[in-house]
Amino acid sequence: MRERLARLGLETVLELLLHLPLRYEDRSTVRPIGGLRTGDFALIEGVIEAADVVRGSKARLVCRISDGTGHLTLSFFNFYANQVKQLQRGERVRCFGEVRAVGPSLQMTHPEYHLEHDEAGWNEGGYTPVYPLTQGLTQAAMRRMVAEALRLAAQPGALAELLPYALREELRLPSLYDALALIHHPPADAPIEALMAREHPAMLRVLFEELLAHQISLRQLREQVRAESRAPVLRPAGQLVKRFLENLPFELTGAQQRVDTEVAADMASDAPMLRLVQGDVGSGKTVIAALAALRAVECGWQAAVMAPTELLAEQHHRNFANWLEPLGLDVAWLSGRVGGQTRRDMLAGIADGGIRVAVGTHALFQESVEFQQLGLVVVDEQHRFGVHQRLALQEKGGQHGRRPHQLIMTATPIPRTLAMTAYADLDVSVIDELPPGRTPVTTVAIPDARRDEVIERVRAACAAGRQAYWVCTLIEESEKLEAEAAEATAERLSESLPELRVGLVHGRMRGADKEAVMGAFAAGELDLLVATTVIEVGVDVPNASLMIIENPERLGLSQLHQLRGRVGRGRAASSCVLMYHGPLSDTARHRLGVLRETTDGFEVARRDLELRGPGELLGTRQTGALNYRVADLARDAKLLPRVQHVAVEMLKQHPQYADALVQRWIGERQRYARV
Ligand code: ADP
Ligand code: MG
Repeated sequence: MRERLARLGLETVLELLLHLPLRYEDRSTVRPIGGLRTGDFALIEGVIEAADVVRGSKARLVCRISDGTGHLTLSFFNFYANQVKQLQRGERVRCFGEVRAVGPSLQMTHPEYHLEHDEAGWNEGGYTPVYPLTQGLTQAAMRRMVAEALRLAAQPGALAELLPYALREELRLPSLYDALALIHHPPADAPIEALMAREHPAMLRVLFEELLAHQISLRQLREQVRAESRAPVLRPAGQLVKRFLENLPFELTGAQQRVDTEVAADMASDAPMLRLVQGDVGSGKTVIAALAALRAVECGWQAAVMAPTELLAEQHHRNFANWLEPLGLDVAWLSGRVGGQTRRDMLAGIADGGIRVAVGTHALFQESVEFQQLGLVVVDEQHRFGVHQRLALQEKGGQHGRRPHQLIMTATPIPRTLAMTAYADLDVSVIDELPPGRTPVTTVAIPDARRDEVIERVRAACAAGRQAYWVCTLIEESEKLEAEAAEATAERLSESLPELRVGLVHGRMRGADKEAVMGAFAAGELDLLVATTVIEVGVDVPNASLMIIENPERLGLSQLHQLRGRVGRGRAASSCVLMYHGPLSDTARHRLGVLRETTDGFEVARRDLELRGPGELLGTRQTGALNYRVADLARDAKLLPRVQHVAVEMLKQHPQYADALVQRWIGERQRYARV
């Protein structure tokens, strides 16, 4: 039994109590016997027509009852003499149990029953919980164990109440024991719908406590990281930053200035910065990264900038080189594809400090790369890096006992409350303003039967001096097939549009070739770029004003939003054509509808969260942090602002309760979150 329970992760009394019912059996209405089916759990009422003790290898008490709509047999092994006296012919009885068809007749074995003169029992009604089970475990056994667990928990001191009384009053939440007792044994008049909808105070109490425990745990983790390690104080006079801003062809937006100030303040402290910068595609995050890098360099420290793909890393390298070389700084480029003597020189420069700024892929945190003194790590598009990789990078800066500051940038806008829970170990800055002069992208959905029309759009846009993307989406998760499809598409489009210069990029091309094509497109030497989803993030060509996405029904909302973000970066009015292959599923139709309705990344993210749940949205970073027993970040998100507020209060006012909460809900798991 213990083993079977362990399979469900149930090893303690509390774990049993947190094994919440999936649903409830309703004993509030009496069902007509004539309408019953085998397998039903039902409350029935009838008059006993016959009652007999049947002798055999094992004695059995058998009663036949009728309610006018049908007959049913009650069957008891192991009965008491008292029961034979009670269950007399002519008595009216209410029974609850599982209905079985035995031959032509219906039967209940060992039903619960009450006689009419037993008023309390007769009117008991109410709901019976139905639990998630594992093989070899029955509902009855589960119910018994939960009942026993509740009995144990009711002993004084057994289930400590960890929310301060005043807080419970304020939030109108019952005690944990009362909440669990109600959930496992709702009284006849309990609002079952509210319970199932997770809106009843008893449910809210349990959800709140779990969310709170996680929130507290994440905050403690962050405090621990901060307390254990020191970072260099990077507070330069600002010469490099000044010259950089003077050379920049535009002014920073208000949002960029605000975020830059937040970053600068973090870097000026010896507590390691752990800051997430969120900004919709095109909001100008790269400049923020450059400014941070310049601060590190001016103080004599090195900066490393990492992107998740070669293509993106190449683009960052181009940008950084353009911006920093006029200031007299060399920018090194490191990826898995840089080899031979070039690589050796690069590694030597990074190790002796000759190289101050290095841009690259995850190759930057391989063991062979030793920095002289790394003061800042910038990670772009962080959702593709796991928490492990982030920690590995932190280790890189072990020199002089100082950890590098970390700046993490993501274009996947995560609703703020969710970010603060999923990333409670990070501070969050939001660039909530796009650079001026952008016109919102118009999005349309067109079936692929009207492909010719779409091709004409491309022709018109390019004739007007604009450029266009044509994206072929992933086929069956195969990069090879995807690349082939893109090749075929590029060929066909070249035939249909002979006057256009057509380029092709896909994931199976060599880095240098990809870069050459991207470079040509950015320089305006290509009119149409046929691409696979490799161009998803970060690619920046302001003159491109038309984005065609083939088979958008294959992609998720935020990925589509990212792709669309490749256009609308210049002054021309831009559009995005979602060329779908019908018929669409309901979800796909819904997704495309969302994109047509809004261009606001945060709104898209909110809708995405509703459609997919937080696990997928947050990608690899689910490790530990999202392991909830009862709470669900998407369904219960409305509780988060309150939870965050209370977590801060608890840590300040009731640290011993805060620790106990973490121990109760997370316990040993907190340590795993750190590796
Ligand atoms: P993302 O946030 O998607 O990484 P980028 O940093 O690539 O965005 O910036 C998108 C484009 O906007 C780039 O061409 C960049 O030079 C330009 N840009 C950034 N900030 C500003 C600004 N304040 N004013 C005008 N253009 C800007
Ligand atoms: Mg970017």
